[in-house]
Amino acid sequence: MSRSAHPAGPRHADVLPEGHYSGPAADLNELDSKVWAQTVTRDDDANGVVTVGGIDVKTLAERHGTPAYVLDEDDFRQRARAWRTAFGHDADVFYAGKAFLSRAVVRWLHEEGLNLDVCSGGELATALSAGMPADRIAFHGNNKSTDEIERAIRAGVGRIVLDSFQEIVRVAHIAQSLGKRQRVQIRITVGVEAHTHEFIATAHEDQKFGIPLAGGQAAEAVRRALQLDGLELIGIHSHIGSQIFDMSGFEVAAHRVVGLLKDIRDEHGIELPEIDLGGGLGIAYTSDDDPREPHEIAKALTEIVTRECDSARLRTPRISVEPGRAIVGPTAFTLYEVGTIKPLDGLRTYVSVDGGMSDNIRTALYDAEYSVALVSRRSDAEPMLARVVGKHCESGDIVVKDAFLPGDLAPGDLIAVPATGAYCRSMASNYNHVLRPPVVAVKDGESRVIVRRETEEDLLRLDVG
Ligand SMILES: *Cc1c(COP(=O)(O)O)cnc(C)c1O
Repeated sequence: MSRSAHPAGPRHADVLPEGHYSGPAADLNELDSKVWAQTVTRDDDANGVVTVGGIDVKTLAERHGTPAYVLDEDDFRQRARAWRTAFGHDADVFYAGKAFLSRAVVRWLHEEGLNLDVCSGGELATALSAGMPADRIAFHGNNKSTDEIERAIRAGVGRIVLDSFQEIVRVAHIAQSLGKRQRVQIRITVGVEAHTHEFIATAHEDQKFGIPLAGGQAAEAVRRALQLDGLELIGIHSHIGSQIFDMSGFEVAAHRVVGLLKDIRDEHGIELPEIDLGGGLGIAYTSDDDPREPHEIAKALTEIVTRECDSARLRTPRISVEPGRAIVGPTAFTLYEVGTIKPLDGLRTYVSVDGGMSDNIRTALYDAEYSVALVSRRSDAEPMLARVVGKHCESGDIVVKDAFLPGDLAPGDLIAVPATGAYCRSMASNYNHVLRPPVVAVKDGESRVIVRRETEEDLLRLDVG
């Protein structure tokens, strides 16, 4: 999804499509710090085994099995803190729980001063059970059930992001019947669509999320929300895409959201105090990606909003952002054991691992790009063009479409795919009744399972026969 549609893939190893992916790195043993979690290094005293959080991957594989998501806790905390610090006290950072949520993660976020986005009863339950204060939780979704809305209001969530005309009435009604006034934002679609290096400023608002700004619909939603006693309208919300590197999409979005704030002031005589610009900031999946640092993003967004508000003569509202991928994505890699290796003459070598599309659906779903490295030892063998595939009964079961791995790769070697912290475990499935891998947090030479591996017992428990 990050690039325009790819050709089906190279037919011959020597006629690779231009710009499809980089050729083999000069040294396949090198680990690009852009795509690997911060504490990842190769230990050249120990045959080149890779370590993370002070533990080598062979020990991790022995202790926890493969496949496993290995998450660098220090890296997670540092990224969370960097976002928090970058935005300072006049803004809020909501971590988007859908990227990856567990109770340990909720505690880290709480400790680092971040807020949390949830978009289902299950995510809300996870957040509350780990002690996230309800007033630091935002509830999202285009089809929240009555039960979910009621639970969120009862719990006292800080905001519900209203996504439709029906929901405005529904939330107001439920809040009122509970004797409460719920803080809400209205999610609008501003006609900007942003992905990676391009954005479209005139996209059709042809999507399931939000209320279109076009045709005065957003203004009408505001009118209705302001009339309902059960609601306290605190701001406008806009989320424009995912894996975004180019800030100009946010610029256009902010311009349009502020335009609405101005219209609201002119019509109702009120200045809404908050504006949420959503998430979607990109990370490096391969060495070709160059994401911005949180402080650059914070500076750019704050300047954009301030400038727009100044020219509309509005007080600058409190800004919030909702990064998910940009915090958790780079902090984890998936550790796999190599199984069957199948060289196809003149094409490529298929390297099968003990997981696949059940632990990483992004390649099949979005044509996502990843890199991969041999991590259980170093190798100076010639690079071979490889495709890393899973063990599922599906030919689209690809983890890494095009990658170079050492030519002496053998069954039993450990390979790792970096930048799998976001949208991998959270989108994992039980396809083929493959068991979902654990998430293992590493820090200061210790490893701790924060989400355990699924067992066959777990599978059979749901099958009540
Ligand atoms: C998905 C989503 C996010 C997080 O997106 P990332 O790409 O993980 O940063 C933030 N806000 C909303 C409303 C979303 O739907």
